Amino acid sequence: MLNSIADGVYVHESEFIQSNSTVVQGRDGVLLIDPGITREEMENLAADLRDLRLPVVAGFSTHPDWDHVLWLASFGDVPRYGTAACAETMRNFLLSVDWTTHAAELLPPEYVDDIPTELLGLITGAPRHTTAVPWDGPEIRIIEHAAHAQGHAALLIEERRVLIAGDMLSDILMPFLDLEAADPIGDYFAALDLFDALTEDVDIVVPGHGSIGRGKQLAERIGQDREYLRAVRDHRTVNDSRVGPEAPLDWLPDVHNWQVHRLDSLAVGGSKRSNH
Ligand SMILES: [Zn+2]
Repeated sequence: MLNSIADGVYVHESEFIQSNSTVVQGRDGVLLIDPGITREEMENLAADLRDLRLPVVAGFSTHPDWDHVLWLASFGDVPRYGTAACAETMRNFLLSVDWTTHAAELLPPEYVDDIPTELLGLITGAPRHTTAVPWDGPEIRIIEHAAHAQGHAALLIEERRVLIAGDMLSDILMPFLDLEAADPIGDYFAALDLFDALTEDVDIVVPGHGSIGRGKQLAERIGQDREYLRAVRDHRTVNDSRVGPEAPLDWLPDVHNWQVHRLDSLAVGGSKRSNH
């Protein structure tokens, strides 16, 4: 089901860790951002858009993780954009001989039969230094940043005061750091600073997973994520409901502990840790 969140902006929420797909109405059709997870829900979304006479004219993937780069033939054969780095990561992935086996290993076992991978990752890179999605609709600014993944982009629809955050600013997931980066915590702080600079321009934040944040929630989520990062950086106990005993996702505290452990071993290995 498509929920209207702003003029010409709709969100569809998947049952798989509350993944949000966003639909933005343009002149001749819609831009589909992070299209969805299961074949059934994406077919339903395609049918809903057909009923509304809103053809998909382009796609956008916020980053090169499998749950953001799926696609269905029913959406049509249209350009599917991402950052240049996102497109390159996916191209390299698809060039590996056994990517279908590899993809199957990445997928959650309980969903593996429901997730269509035949069109996974066919992303066209927006030209480097491009600052807007190339389409005929309200201007959508591409805000690229390291933090969760290389080539990750948030999208700002300025006219609608909506920020589509990709895998950032979630109320149910703690920050998932890019542990391959030289300074994962520093990168994450830097991305939160970028979002902080937008708080006056944004009324609604759509995270890749979790609930839509309105009003002051953008600032609150930035604050919560900063506090998480400071606690991890300073080896303090993390006081965060997303990973505490009442965590809405019961597997998340384990992922959090694993992440802290990995960060500590990276630090021992000599990576610099940031101050903020
Ligand atoms: Zn995700």
